[in-house]
Amino acid sequence: MRKILRLFLCYAAYIMGARCSICSNPELAETINKMLYQKVQQADIALQTGVTKSTVGRHANSCYLTYRALRNKSKTVSTYGRMIVSWPTTGERVLTYFGDVLQPNEVRDDDLIIVVNYQKIRVADVGNPRAVPLNESTFESFLEAAIAEDAERANSPSS
Ligand SMILES: [Zn+2]
Repeated sequence: MRKILRLFLCYAAYIMGARCSICSNPELAETINKMLYQKVQQADIALQTGVTKSTVGRHANSCYLTYRALRNKSKTVSTYGRMIVSWPTTGERVLTYFGDVLQPNEVRDDDLIIVVNYQKIRVADVGNPRAVPLNESTFESFLEAAIAEDAERANSPSS
């Protein structure tokens, strides 16, 4: 069933692409698809691109839906995008790629952004009742508890 749907989408894209004046100009199509993705009003898209509102509407209701379907599909199989981390700071979030800071406009469409958020939790809520505070006087019992826990984990069938 899914395969049939995919074939239909490709066929629809082919048919619509042949008939749609927006799709016959790939650069224009990309610009308009991005505007639709950013939820720009169709009337504003018509004003900014010089395409009639009805053509934008037809493109939005057919070709664009195919574009979104393919875009979502490529998101799940993309292997060429960079892994970018978005870090929380006191001001705006900071984007890094292997330690190098990136500006938001340097992020590419196929990049994967990992959003890091910190959460404050109470130590009592962590749920480690056997945890022993580590200092010189508790070191022996700390070590014993750790070794016992390791042994349990090694014997546990679930891990
Ligand atoms: Zn189109």
